[in-house]
Amino acid sequence: MSNAYFRVEEPKNEPYLSYAPGTPEREALKEELSRLKGEVLEIPAIIDGKEVWTDRVEEVVMPHNHGHVLGRVHLCGEKEVKMAIESSLRAQREWADLPWEERAAVFLRAADMVTGPYRYTMNAATMLAQSKTPYQSEIEAVGELADFLRFNAWYLAKIMGDQPHSPDGIWNRVEYRPLEGFVFAVSPFNFTAIAGNLPSAPAMCGNVALWKPSLEAVYSNYFFMKILMEAGLPDGVIQFLPGLGADVGDPALASEHLAGLHFTGSVGTFNHLWRTIGENIDRYRTYPRVVGETGGKDFIFAHESAGVEELVVAALRAAYEYQGQKCSAASRIYMPESLAEAFTERFLEEVAKISMGDVEDFSNFMTAVISRKAFDKITSYIEMARGSDEAEILAGGGSDDSKGYFVEPTLIRTSNPDFVTMREEIFGPVLTMYVYPNEQFEETMDLCDRTSPFALTGAIFARNRYVVKQMADRFRFSAGNFYINDKPTAAVVNQQPFGGSRKSGTNDKAGSVINLLRWLSARAIKEAKVSPTEWRYPYMG
Ligand code: NAD
Repeated sequence: MSNAYFRVEEPKNEPYLSYAPGTPEREALKEELSRLKGEVLEIPAIIDGKEVWTDRVEEVVMPHNHGHVLGRVHLCGEKEVKMAIESSLRAQREWADLPWEERAAVFLRAADMVTGPYRYTMNAATMLAQSKTPYQSEIEAVGELADFLRFNAWYLAKIMGDQPHSPDGIWNRVEYRPLEGFVFAVSPFNFTAIAGNLPSAPAMCGNVALWKPSLEAVYSNYFFMKILMEAGLPDGVIQFLPGLGADVGDPALASEHLAGLHFTGSVGTFNHLWRTIGENIDRYRTYPRVVGETGGKDFIFAHESAGVEELVVAALRAAYEYQGQKCSAASRIYMPESLAEAFTERFLEEVAKISMGDVEDFSNFMTAVISRKAFDKITSYIEMARGSDEAEILAGGGSDDSKGYFVEPTLIRTSNPDFVTMREEIFGPVLTMYVYPNEQFEETMDLCDRTSPFALTGAIFARNRYVVKQMADRFRFSAGNFYINDKPTAAVVNQQPFGGSRKSGTNDKAGSVINLLRWLSARAIKEAKVSPTEWRYPYMG
């Protein structure tokens, strides 16, 4: 019971450390990288707050050096999922009854542990196992993760204070209850921050959660799970269940206690999960809340009034940072004929300077893609372009999987705006350019809007203000995160709430009030101060 209105101080976005030569953080991170590399981490499931070891084990390797084993993860199946559900249901009532500020305190503590004593561990683990450069890792596995935890606590406080009107004689209140049952949180490989947020946001709202991390990110995700436990997360509130998709997914979705799905990943997986929920609908005790953020085919659209230098920087960073494995990564660019030559020349000059290699060589801008499967998929698209007379590879196109899964930053130019690499999500460092006649500006905007089924991010470049307004209007439904004269990546919590529509997801904006409301079920309470004692109405005479 609370005996005061507690206030969550408005957070600030976590500042990023630079890791520039000579800084203390650079040395500390290097030390942590070599410490982690020197061990093979055994990764258990965590069920009811206890480590659970299974006899199905898979190795965790470094994508940029796949001969190096970082860890061994113990995989869950039906038995472990059932144990986890039982434990969640036992933990549910006590956790839900805890005042919201006590729950928030656990996650606020975890945020300060991520940015404090475990900063270099979270950064180094994400660098090694998900192949990120120090900066790409810092901005998300430290910065964004802490931002999610801190801002969600602040948003939750605001929601709790949102109360209805009470006329004379009546006191109206709204209570924000958690959902009845568990939330199934299924996370992708590409952001440690998203993985941490998927179970944490519902849990902060008073829910219990089953967390199925991606096996490609399980190493960093396990460190975060341990931070949550050290921060005081009670046993059974979040269950950590590494495993193959269906081995964990099928029994979780078959439970009558499923109350929500908090998913980020590909369209194919989300469609499968949604379909399964639909098929199981008669067994659930409550209608599950389904939240899913999925893929993108994110665009940059240049108008003839745009500046070439800013286009070059935006396209290079948005297409190739983290090897193009951000859901927001630019993967198609529309260029007016009048700028095409200048843009291409400058872009190729800059791409030639990109260095790619091991994450421990801090001079690298790019490292490897996540897995053999990703490598094969990305290179197959490059081969399609190589074999087509509608496409030409202007930069990159090479790849090497002998030591790590390396794919060169690639620029394709196509004469066909519906060419496969203009339509499908590749999720690698591959950008395709379509050059349009200047006078076909409006038709080309229509083309851009209808070419892919996604609507996640998009960026326009123009100096003419009438055109900026025209483009912003034309692309109203083409992207959930829209950028004017800036690259379409790197959304920041509390600044650009993130999510897309159409086939990019349910657009429930991770790290915002919009998302938290999905994990709360309001109860309206009306209290009469003096209860009526006469049933007849005055009009009855
Ligand atoms: P994925 O769909 O392959 O996997 C996502 C998760 O689903 C993993 O944990 C996986 O093991 C799990 N899964 C697979 N089958 C399952 C099943 N039957 N039951 C339960 N779980 C199952 O995606 P990925 O490769 O990890 O991530 C990349 C994708 O995520 C891209 O499409 C990217 O655009 C998208 N993404 C979107 C956003 C966004 O905010 N819109 C953010 C990050 C990534």
